[in-house]
Amino acid sequence: MKILVTGGAGYIGSHTVLTLLEKGHEVEVVDNYDNSSPESIRRVERLTGGSVVLHEFDLREEERLTELFATGAYDAVIHFAGLKAVGESVAEPALYYGTNLESTLSLVRAMAASATRTLVFSSSATVYGERAQVPYVEAYEPLEANNPYGKTKVMIEHILGDLAAADDSWRIGLLRYFNPVGAHPSGEIGEDPAGIPNNLTPYISQVAVGRLASLGVFGDDYDTPDGTGLRDYIHVMDLAEGHVVALEHLAASPGIGARAWNLGTGTGTSVLEVVAAFEKASGVEIPYEVKPRRAGDLARSYADASRAKDELGWVATRGIDEMCADAWRWQSQNPQGYRA
Ligand code: NAD
Ligand code: UDP
Repeated sequence: MKILVTGGAGYIGSHTVLTLLEKGHEVEVVDNYDNSSPESIRRVERLTGGSVVLHEFDLREEERLTELFATGAYDAVIHFAGLKAVGESVAEPALYYGTNLESTLSLVRAMAASATRTLVFSSSATVYGERAQVPYVEAYEPLEANNPYGKTKVMIEHILGDLAAADDSWRIGLLRYFNPVGAHPSGEIGEDPAGIPNNLTPYISQVAVGRLASLGVFGDDYDTPDGTGLRDYIHVMDLAEGHVVALEHLAASPGIGARAWNLGTGTGTSVLEVVAAFEKASGVEIPYEVKPRRAGDLARSYADASRAKDELGWVATRGIDEMCADAWRWQSQNPQGYRA
């Protein structure tokens, strides 16, 4: 298949582009490098021996996107592009609603003007909100979120669901990611957050490599076995493979409409268990101090992963030790990320 990947230079996008190339697909990327660099794609090309056509522009430039679809003859699109920092979305809601919604609307209008009707969208477990019970099942409603970033995911799921309901030529996969971590086992590509990381494993990695002094553990008084938050960490390579099987499933499923799949392992791992796994993988002690709970955090979040298994034949195969070993290989070989 010929696939257009939006946000393909980013963390999950670059691993997915690599996996697509390895499976023999043809790939083009649109990215404005707002939170990435083309270096990730250069490394993907080196690792795979493949080549990727890069289009550098903002998805909101709808005319350019429409031109691309007019000539590109893409079989499908994977849409990763967007802003993703929860705290920043609370501080700058207009930026988040503007970028994430306008980018997606511009994309689906450009697709509608072409023959391309197959789309995989990066959703998130955040759409289950605060009231859903773990393990989260895809049929749960109503979707809701308590911050502007999460609300853009809920809104986009609704927009894409309405599009598919109005026109049955659309085939849309809504992939609800749990907590993506780790890196390609080569250590050549990985997660490269700008500034101080918000997420747990990039923070731990930067403590291990000496860029940060110590980890703050946000609360140890949750109703969980060790008092720290439980999350469903999923290796980014498992996630990348999930996109490829979702695309193949959509290609073989006319009339499917919009369908959601959780991409998680189904297992909750605590903050302190991640710290211990990272110490084991790296051989480096991670100093930490317990801090107050972070606003908006839930005690636990993990998937019921059975729909993806039953319908896509996909299960996550890599465990937390492998996630930490691969994250550490990337971080220790690239202490300053792609900027080195
Ligand atoms: P990332 O920031 O590494 O990648 C996003 C990419 O999109 C970047 O390369 C960025 O430059 C590009 N981009 C942003 N706005 C753009 C625009 N207007 N036009 C063109 N390109 C633009 O993020 P990621 O971690 O790879 O996440 C990919 C997607 O998955 C996002 O939609 C994110 O919300 C979603 N997601 C991520 C996580 C996570 O924890 N990483 C969890 C759930 C869902
Ligand atoms: N966390 C932490 N310290 C940090 C970052 C995160 O203790 O510096 C905890 C957080 O409270 C949650 C888990 O680690 O229980 C995963 O947080 P992350 O931000 O990576 O993902 P989230 O599930 O919140 O999107």
